[in-house]
Amino acid sequence: MQGLMQDAPLTLSSLLDHAARFHGDREIVSKSAEATLRTNYRDVNGRARQLAGALRRLEVKTGDCVASLAMNTSRHIELYYGVTGAGAVLNTVNPKLFPEQIKFIVSHAENTYVFFDPAFGPLLEALALELTGVRGYVCLADAAGTPAFNLPNLTNYEDLIGSEDVASPWTEVAESAGAILCYTSGTTGDPKGVLYSHRSLVLHAFTVLSADGMALSTRDGVLLVTPLFHVNAWGIPFAAAMCGARLILPGAALDGESIFNLMRAERCTFSLGVPTVWLGFLDFIAAHRERLDLSGLALERVLVGGSAAPRSLIERFDYMLGVYVIHAWGMTETSPLATIGTPLPEHAQLDAQSRYDIQMLQGRAIYGVDLRIVDGEGTVLAHDGIAAGDLQVRGPWVVQRYFKAPAPACDADGWFPTGDVAKIHPNGYLQLTDRSKDIIKSGGEWISSVDLENAAIAHPDVREAAVIGVPHPKWQERPILLVVAAPAATPQRDDILAFLAARVARWQVPDDVIVVPALPHTATGKLLKSALRETYRDHLSKDDGES
Ligand code: ADP
Repeated sequence: MQGLMQDAPLTLSSLLDHAARFHGDREIVSKSAEATLRTNYRDVNGRARQLAGALRRLEVKTGDCVASLAMNTSRHIELYYGVTGAGAVLNTVNPKLFPEQIKFIVSHAENTYVFFDPAFGPLLEALALELTGVRGYVCLADAAGTPAFNLPNLTNYEDLIGSEDVASPWTEVAESAGAILCYTSGTTGDPKGVLYSHRSLVLHAFTVLSADGMALSTRDGVLLVTPLFHVNAWGIPFAAAMCGARLILPGAALDGESIFNLMRAERCTFSLGVPTVWLGFLDFIAAHRERLDLSGLALERVLVGGSAAPRSLIERFDYMLGVYVIHAWGMTETSPLATIGTPLPEHAQLDAQSRYDIQMLQGRAIYGVDLRIVDGEGTVLAHDGIAAGDLQVRGPWVVQRYFKAPAPACDADGWFPTGDVAKIHPNGYLQLTDRSKDIIKSGGEWISSVDLENAAIAHPDVREAAVIGVPHPKWQERPILLVVAAPAATPQRDDILAFLAARVARWQVPDDVIVVPALPHTATGKLLKSALRETYRDHLSKDDGES
């Protein structure tokens, strides 16, 4: 028998309409080098409707793709709603990728128009000749703020939308229609497109609001440090509209000082980002503690994901600022929220060190995401906190098939192989032990690079650590450790090796420690281990292999 309830489609425009109607005055604050722009959900709704009208005028059709190359600004938020509200798909392109990758993505998605921040004009000028499918370029500025870039059919955003009605209708779409297209950064091979539907994004937004999700609410001011081109800024623009949270957008300035100043000036209660951003933020506070007025900070909690949150980061947020780190795991293919580390009732009485132990784990599955670990033969492994296996996930906001791919990305039961290796503890906590391609296979034993990195980072002289496996004449592969020095420290090889020897099994101790000025990261803040493996591939093969 059919249920008898209404079948209202879960579309993104319904989120912004709700925000405009019931939280219309709530601010959306955009910071740029020149100014602070204050707008609100009502005005953003009007401007997104103008944009939807303008796109129809440009004959952008339902299902066509429109690209953005932009940082976190209110105009970018308008693209999120205006492009999808015209029935088109917004392809958020990461401007920090290599130009070749940007060219690949813009062409692969067959983008009709490219909207871009003025700062990315020169990048596009160098590519435009080869982007033959693009009909025109829209600079996210007014006429005065748009330089005369050498781009075909260049216009500026304000002129484009200015003549349209703030009450332009949304184009009706099914909730299953594609809305946003985001490419994984592809540390190997070409980037792959994940096409989120209106429905998957709305369902994911409910999860972000849930108390054991990010507990986002109308009382929050969210500093959106995670870029809008990185998995929809982890779903915040949709969740914030759903509950009417204040949005604070930092533009391009993501250094510790800029984040601190904006966070304090706007009294942000919640923020989220990858560990590297937060390390910069905490280092800035530590270095200027005497002159900073920390009492002005309203920050309560920070969500950290994209890479493992180091223990030092969790600790420093706690004792320096009294801020709780929520550690979450996910990926582009999971929209991204899949597991999240809110505490269980039995954790309420833990002392700080035991609580940090829990916070370092990647959290528990949130409703909507099912997960399991399997061995090489596909046998499902126990959730005993001992067995480690390939992590698989499924659920209504997990990818079914990559954009334009001939075959599904998951098996017939929906299980998607994440490429991560993990343990699952009896209490449901996920513990990532490695990326499958980063695991080190030494003489038939597996060594977790993540465990070694965590151990190394606990050394006071180490700010950041990367462990990679490099070819070894006797053991096939052995770990070497690369470290970046903590401010004003000079890490010593033998001292660090002795420190590790006291913490990990003898055969897991790296064969060498190399101090480097910086480690390479991907455009989304992850360690670029493939580049390190390439650079250091011969590092041990010249030795006799004593270890
Ligand atoms: P990319 O676009 O670089 O693929 P994703 O955000 O999709 O970016 O990357 C997802 C991967 O990032 C995961 O498969 C996992 O390896 C890593 N990752 C994400 N969150 C965490 C975390 N909390 N701890 C450890 N690794 C993480």
